[in-house]
Amino acid sequence: MLVLGIESSCDETGLALYETGHGLRAHALHSQIAMHREYGGVVPELASRDHIRRALPLLETVLAEAGVGRQAIDAIAYTAGPGLAGALLVGASVANGLAFALDRPVVPIHHLEGHLLSPLLADPPPAFPFVALLVSGGHTQLMRVDDVGEYTILGETLDDAAGEAFDKTAKLLGLGYPGGPAVSALAAQGRPGAVTLPRPMRHSGDLDFSFSGLKTAVLTQVRAAERDGRLDDACRADIARGFVDAVVDVLAEKSLSALRANGLGRLVVAGGVGANQQLRERLNALAAKRRFTVHYPDLALCTDNGAMIALAGALRLARWPEQATRDYRYGVSPRWELGKPQPRRAA
Ligand code: ATP
Ligand code: MG
Ligand code: FE
Repeated sequence: MLVLGIESSCDETGLALYETGHGLRAHALHSQIAMHREYGGVVPELASRDHIRRALPLLETVLAEAGVGRQAIDAIAYTAGPGLAGALLVGASVANGLAFALDRPVVPIHHLEGHLLSPLLADPPPAFPFVALLVSGGHTQLMRVDDVGEYTILGETLDDAAGEAFDKTAKLLGLGYPGGPAVSALAAQGRPGAVTLPRPMRHSGDLDFSFSGLKTAVLTQVRAAERDGRLDDACRADIARGFVDAVVDVLAEKSLSALRANGLGRLVVAGGVGANQQLRERLNALAAKRRFTVHYPDLALCTDNGAMIALAGALRLARWPEQATRDYRYGVSPRWELGKPQPRRAA
């Protein structure tokens, strides 16, 4: 079965073709990062308009890459939430319009389900059950994943997401948007231990996180260095290093606790912060020492993309063929808790 996946929940238009039994046939992405950069963040109206411009050309790209025509598509999966309403509506409209024209079924997909299943695109894929550490721009969650569609939230952030903390720290350090890769690169030049920042919730005894205090701690460091006239590049790098080490410590320790509490030996990391090199190094070292395995998506598939949506669609259809619908009266859900049915029709 050849499934077209369409992702448009935020600032990336992603399309991909996934074939059951074969794997990813093609994927194409347009990132709007450059367009939003001058505003310091995503402008929803501009995002929606750009998704409209990109969606159909990207469809042609993936069809050409896979060497097939539109008729070869068996089903269309699209991100139905959570995300920006207008941006989601573009992907949903393209998916449903195309499916209607081709007389094919559609499958609405939860964006986070896409992220957390994305490591299954690896060959060989990790087996169920596993613990998933989902660290993205809007979410930080530890989840127990028993099978496709069987997710139990073990812990989550009480305030900022890990990616959000990276982005805010980047702003405080005068780096651009989005901040994750820039903070990570700067941190690599900093001295370990030169700046020690708090590890929020480290000993909370549960699997929840909190990152907003860390942002405040960064602000305090920046202000103090400014006041003392020592806020140069080396000092910024030390602060970035302190920040990354604190985030990585907390994420790694809580992941290990989640594995232990559930008696599991497989950790899957997904979401944009999963591309972070320091996090990967720490988790790999911990995995070797504590004898668990750790699995990541390709670097290119950590942030938003169509491949994870196509995969989630294919896996859902394999397990629940009845979820394919030819009812094209679609609606998107800007807010939607993973594991709950899609809230009824925001649009
Ligand atoms: P969500 O999936 O929760 O709705 P999102 O789709 O915006 O949010 P993603 O696309 O998964 O999130 O990830 C984007 C986030 O990942 C941004 O906050 C970005 O700064 C962060 N990020 C990307 N690359 C890196 C990196 N190398 N190191 C740390 N953070 C990173
Ligand atoms: Mg994005
Ligand atoms: Fe995302």
